[in-house]
Amino acid sequence: MPVDLILRNARLANGRAAGATVDIAVAGGRIAAIEPRIAGDGESVDADGRFVSPGLVESHFHLDKSRILDRVAPLPDRRAMDYMKRTSEVKHTFTVEDVYARARATLEQCLLNGVGHMRTHVEVDPNIGLRGYDAVERLSKDYAWAIDLQLCVFLQEGWTNVPGAEANVVAALKRGAPVVGGAPRYDADGPGQIRRIFALAKEYDVDIDIHLDGGYTTHDMAIHQVCDLTDEIGWGKRVAIGHGNKYSCLPPAELAALGRRLAGSGVAVSVLPATDLFTSGRHLEHSVIRGVADANALVAEGANCSIATNNVLNPFTPYGDCSLVRIANLYANVVQRGTEQDLAECFSMLTVRPARILRRSDYGVAVGHPADFVVWNARTPAEVVATVAQPVMGFKRGRRVFTHELPALHRP
Ligand SMILES: [Zn+2]
Repeated sequence: MPVDLILRNARLANGRAAGATVDIAVAGGRIAAIEPRIAGDGESVDADGRFVSPGLVESHFHLDKSRILDRVAPLPDRRAMDYMKRTSEVKHTFTVEDVYARARATLEQCLLNGVGHMRTHVEVDPNIGLRGYDAVERLSKDYAWAIDLQLCVFLQEGWTNVPGAEANVVAALKRGAPVVGGAPRYDADGPGQIRRIFALAKEYDVDIDIHLDGGYTTHDMAIHQVCDLTDEIGWGKRVAIGHGNKYSCLPPAELAALGRRLAGSGVAVSVLPATDLFTSGRHLEHSVIRGVADANALVAEGANCSIATNNVLNPFTPYGDCSLVRIANLYANVVQRGTEQDLAECFSMLTVRPARILRRSDYGVAVGHPADFVVWNARTPAEVVATVAQPVMGFKRGRRVFTHELPALHRP
């Protein structure tokens, strides 16, 4: 057959580690065939029996405020909880060019770590207006060859109590933002902000992704209001929330009940381990609450969940190498999930599960789908998470996006 590329000796997720490998033929940027052995001319790349996955999906990220520690360094007070305020104080320095340059540096690191899809939240609070949105929108066009970037417009610093704030959200929605988000925790009227988000989602026919249920008290969880509104406007499978630290404080039976409620309403949860760990339990000096929700437990009840990076090198998370696999490894370690099945589920929370949140209907290594894949230096999805395996090479629509040399020991 006429093909542009054949990826040979690939091991897919549904195959057993010791089982047979396949060849994947690419034509016109799409997967044309997956067979045990494909004859054909054109470029041939040998996966050498390694595990091949679709490109990773970052379902919750903040490109626009990444890499700002040079202007707002971490403070030594470990009890402080002023990440939002400290970020707000330097937001006036965010020009379009500045946001673009920082977001580009972060995005390129994500690409090198195997990410091929991303939902990035973009702040349009009055102190930045649409400057961040302008920058990230331009970035999404400039890097369309490597990644599908989905913009979620939101207000970080309050909505119902901030004059002019909603007008910026509406302006971004009119420009085509496909997702509206929020941070009701920082609103004088959190439930009121949630109601405005759902009203705008319905009016502009966009999806919803809200920062929700940070903290450690469980009598006041906002997820019930979110599920109620999702049912009310029929937005099932179009709503996600990020964080859910409070769910880590629920006894198992209540966590399971929450999982069933999320499943019934079609509301997904993105767990954000790096930020959740860095910001949780700050009121405690010892036996610190970890604040990372057990997504595996929610998935077991039928809910959809993902694991995501969220922040890189800013006051909310002063770390980050943009390795989503490292974040999954961190998550698995914290929630004490280590079986082959649990770790494979963690990998699905970087791939097929967040792809559902982003509503990518043609996601996955299958005939007819875009030829997006990553070759890992591992043989199974569980091994990728357990060992923080290196992505060896990545392709987007059949074109090579990156290559990593495998480490080599130089023996005497
Ligand atoms: Zn976030």
